[in-house]
Order: sequence, then structure tokens, then C-alpha cells
Amino acid sequence: MARALIIGCGAVATVAIKKCCTCSEVFSEICIASRHRENCEKLAQELRPNTKTVITTAAVDADKAENVSALIKQYKPDLVMNIALPYQDLAIMDACLECGVNYMDTANYEPENIDDPEWRKVYDKRCKEKGFSAYFDYSWQWAYKEKFEKAGLTALLGSGFDPGVSQAYCAYALKHQFDTIEEIDILDCNGGDHGYKFATNFNPEINLREVSAPGSYWDTDENGKGHWVEIPAMSIKREYEFAQVGKKDMYLLHHEEIESLAQNIPGIKRIRFFMTFGQSYLDHMRCLEDVGMLSTQPIKFQGQDIVPIQFLKALLPDPASLGPRTVGKTNIGCIFKGTKDGKPKTYYLYNVCDHQECYKELGSQAIAYTTGVPAMCGAMMVLTGKWNKPGVHTVEEFDPDPFMEALTKYGLPWNEDFNPVLVD
Ligand code: NDP
Repeated sequence: MARALIIGCGAVATVAIKKCCTCSEVFSEICIASRHRENCEKLAQELRPNTKTVITTAAVDADKAENVSALIKQYKPDLVMNIALPYQDLAIMDACLECGVNYMDTANYEPENIDDPEWRKVYDKRCKEKGFSAYFDYSWQWAYKEKFEKAGLTALLGSGFDPGVSQAYCAYALKHQFDTIEEIDILDCNGGDHGYKFATNFNPEINLREVSAPGSYWDTDENGKGHWVEIPAMSIKREYEFAQVGKKDMYLLHHEEIESLAQNIPGIKRIRFFMTFGQSYLDHMRCLEDVGMLSTQPIKFQGQDIVPIQFLKALLPDPASLGPRTVGKTNIGCIFKGTKDGKPKTYYLYNVCDHQECYKELGSQAIAYTTGVPAMCGAMMVLTGKWNKPGVHTVEEFDPDPFMEALTKYGLPWNEDFNPVLVD
């Protein structure tokens, strides 16, 4: 019996909220809040007749910590589930600290305005010191570790699929299958087709920023020292035959869980992340980037300030509307190389999710589904005390077993392959 404040009511949050409502014994009360309360209320009205969960709604602009604090003080939740955008992470964490409430999210912090000189100073220093230039990294949220520890509060970062389940797979492999893991390849394949020439599967701004950034991976030199290797965007391409999906081109990207896994998997030598893209998606993205449509810098147009990527977002299909038209499957998982009982071993742990099955069950496509279910399961781990560790932690720092059990129960079972084809 617990009370959760859920900030955000978009594609991912909708799945998480619907799943919370199927588990009223844990989520006995939820409050759905975003800037547009009418969207939260619309979803609440759809769900109320069929759930024992008591649902209320609120309006909140979570860009400001004081707004979130005011709502927390009024609602008194046991956990704040941040399923809004990465821009709000720090403000919501500040509010949780002020009010003494546990926190979770699905993506690590990045600023809305990457031209902010204060942020830029820290970013430029980090690029030089760490060697990767993606706009997001864990340093901002890891800086809260001591404060959350002292307050006796748990902050669970990145409880989606990747980040999220990908790290639980790593923790599971380490606990049950390996003595040491030396290499991890995280493969994210979306074999879905929505019929549009160009659309993104989740928030376009966040998605396009992520995939247009230079790629990078973790590697180790001959003296055993780990370091980042950065490459131009989309410059490492591989073809892979995915179970239940088929052959796809995939590209090496920077991804946030590489940063935490490099710290938390002892003896790890290499971690890479690959995502599949079709040629049409890449051609559109390159063209949009070349003409400046991915820029976050406001421009004056007919006397008005316009942020190009926000204008583009308004033109593109709403990711939440892709559900009815998306067919095909996703296949996301991790390939491990390491040793067990002194012998070399390889192992592949992955989930396959069908877009139309997700749509039939919850009215959402598989990308929102595969993120929303782990968000709800991660929240459940914190609320039931199974993942209660004061401080700021990523998923691989917790016991994977109860989480993986919950994933299977709530729609994301896993598959194993003990002789996988490796990525060269
Ligand atoms: P959407 O754009 O569909 O939804 C975002 C939601 O956030 C909206 O309901 C919006 O409501 C709310 N929101 C935005 N700004 C504010 C604000 N200032 N205050 C309060 N609420 C706000 O995004 P998605 O559902 O696609 O993505 C949600 C999160 O999931 C993102 O952080 C994304 O990066 C992450 N994600 C993680 C993945 C993973 O595997 N870990 C995969 C995919 C996504 P309103 O406009 O009413 O405020």
C-alpha cells in the first residue's frame, strides 16, 4: 500500500500508469501531474472505472523545484516517479530532498538549453576529462549521492529498458552466469514499421539529440586502463540477425548506461551500445541536421523566437499516436563475453516485444511499452523495500532477481542464448 506521485503523462508514463493500475496492492494511490492537467485527467478518467488504485491529478511545471516541492507537501507521496523529460531531473531531485521522498527516473539529466554558459563550462571540462561529448552524463545526478545518503533516501536512476533492463541483465549475468564479464554489447533493435517516412518512437527532441551525437564506447588499453573512445556519429555499422526480427543494420551510439556499467562491473574491458536504424531514418536525420532543424538555439522568425527542434517536434507525428499503425517487433538485450569456472563463456539475454500485442493490451507501441513497464517495476522495487539503498544508484547496483521476476509478470519476459553470434 503506497502512494506515488507520477510526473509526466506522455507515451512512456501512460504505459507505466496503466501498469500501476493493474497492481493496486502496491500502487494504492497515484497522482498524475504535468503542465497540462487536462491530459492527466483524461487518462485518469479512462482508468478509474477499472482499477482499485485511487487516482488524482495535478498541474505542475517541474522545471522549478519549488513547484514540485509544493505538490509533494500537499500530496505526501512515498515515491516520486519522474517520467517527464530529462530536463526536469535535477529540479525533481531537489524537491525530493527538500521533502524527504524517494526518487526515480528513466533517463539521465541533460539541460534543455545546451548554450547556457554555466552548463557549457562544466560540459566542456567533462568532454576533455572523460573523452565523450554527448550532452548527457551521470555527473550531475551522481553529485547528489551524498545528499541522498545523508537523508536516508533512495534515488533510482534510469529505470526504463535501456538504460534500465539492460543493466539488470548485466547484474543478472554477473550473479548467475559468470565469474567475470569482460565484454558487453548492448543491442537495441526496433524492427517495427509505422508507415511514416520519418517519425521518432519517443520524444523527438531527446531522441534526435541522442542519435545525432558522436558515438562512443568503453575500452581498455594494454595496461588495463579503461577509457572512452569517441567516433563520428553513425561511423561504426554492423549487420546482425535478430531473433524473431531478422537481419538489421545497427550503429554504435553513446549511451548512458555504459558510463555506470564501466564503474560497476568489476574487470570489464569493453562495453558498446548498438541501435538499429533504417536508411530512410538516417537520410532524413542527416538532412534535418544539415539544414539546422535539430538546433536548440532559438532563431527569430517573423518577429517570434522559434527553437528549430521544437518546431520540428510540432510537425512530426506524436510518438504516442504510433501505436495503432506500428507492426513488427523489438529485440533488445545484451551479449556477454567472460569466464565461468575458469572457462571462456558467451551468453545473450534479450527481450522480444511485439508492437501490435502492446497496442492490443495497452494502446501503446512497443518502445513506450518496453520503457513504461520497467519504470513501473523499478518503482515497485523501491516502494516494496526490495530496492532500498540510500544514495543515488543505477539499476545494476540492485539485486536483479525480483526486478526480472516483476518484468516477466508485467509483460517483458526474457530469452537466453548460450551460443550467440558475437558482434565483431
Ligand atoms: P513525451 O514527450 O511523450 O512525454 C513527456 C511528458 O513530460 C509529457 O506528459 C509532458 O506533459 C511532461 N512534461 C514535460 N515538461 C514538463 C514540465 N516542465 N513539468 C511537468 N511535466 C512535464 O516523452 P516520452 O514519454 O516519450 O519520454 C518520457 C521519458 O522517458 C523521457 O525522459 C525519455 O528520455 C525517457 N525514455 C527512456 C527510455 C529508456 O529506455 N530508458 C526509452 C524512451 C524514453 P506536459 O506537456 O503536460 O507538461
